[in-house]
Amino acid sequence: MQIVEKAPAKINLGLDTLFEHSNGDKEWDMVMTSVDLADYVTLESLPTKRIEVITDSGFLPNDRRNLAFQAVSVLRRHCHVEYGVRITIKKAIPVAAGLGGGSSDAAAVLRGLNRMWSLGLDLATLAKLGLRIDSDVPYCVYSQTAHVTGKGEVVTPLPKLPPMWIVLAKPKISVSTPNILRQVDYEQLESHLDINELLTGIQQQDFTSIFANMGNVLEPITSKRYPEILQIKQQLLKFGADAAQMSGTGPTVFGVCRKRSRAQRVYNSLKGFCKEVYLVRPVNLNED
Ligand code: ATP
Repeated sequence: MQIVEKAPAKINLGLDTLFEHSNGDKEWDMVMTSVDLADYVTLESLPTKRIEVITDSGFLPNDRRNLAFQAVSVLRRHCHVEYGVRITIKKAIPVAAGLGGGSSDAAAVLRGLNRMWSLGLDLATLAKLGLRIDSDVPYCVYSQTAHVTGKGEVVTPLPKLPPMWIVLAKPKISVSTPNILRQVDYEQLESHLDINELLTGIQQQDFTSIFANMGNVLEPITSKRYPEILQIKQQLLKFGADAAQMSGTGPTVFGVCRKRSRAQRVYNSLKGFCKEVYLVRPVNLNED
């Protein structure tokens, strides 16, 4: 049997952290959405207990360091099964970019194996299991616009975003997520976002309010080390994006535009600055 699952990239329209739990995990307050830049994860049954991971990227591990491999282990343990599987990942999402590629691959494995092995788990259970892999996996299980809180496991789906276009620009640097998160100093965080206003903007499909309340409190930390992030943000705004900011822990920066013609202009202009630029739209995994 063979199953193919789409694993879309995510971006953070709002990213805030409120405090640190005693075990070092962050308390998040985020608004996330998925975009139509996606990896494809193919799952095939194996007659043994083996877990095989094959990717078309030379940089990625194919053993238990791969988040897709970890998803199989977590699911097998939870369901007390020992089926074998071959996972073939066709990567399109840049790695270590702040776009949640590894988390989305892991979430795709959870969804796909749940079907392939007829486990009957609901999305909420898969999301809870996903938290054992990475804080972005619960969101990626849903891959639809959502308010994400807790350590990442409280995912509240939101209405679809009003139509918009997004230009993603990834500078040629790789950012270590743990390294950035270690530098968060809660006393120094300049200001918190008004996530409630952002949520209201989405509920009311109000572009002005969405654009005005977007933000990422990690942007000053990553861009202090990598100033090119702010340069790209300035370019996105200069060429006409309605709002622009870093995604996740970076380094990808994105600009949002209401109009396609404007987004195309921003995309064309950014191509001169940055090798990896994508013109995408928000997607909801289960609707589009
Ligand atoms: P996050 O912000 O969730 O930490 P990211 O979006 O910045 O992640 P990823 O592309 O998920 O970045 O990669 C982060 C790390 O995870 C990399 O060091 C990579 O080697 C490792 N990794 C493990 N499995 C995968 C996978 N299937 N795809 C991409 N990266 C993976």
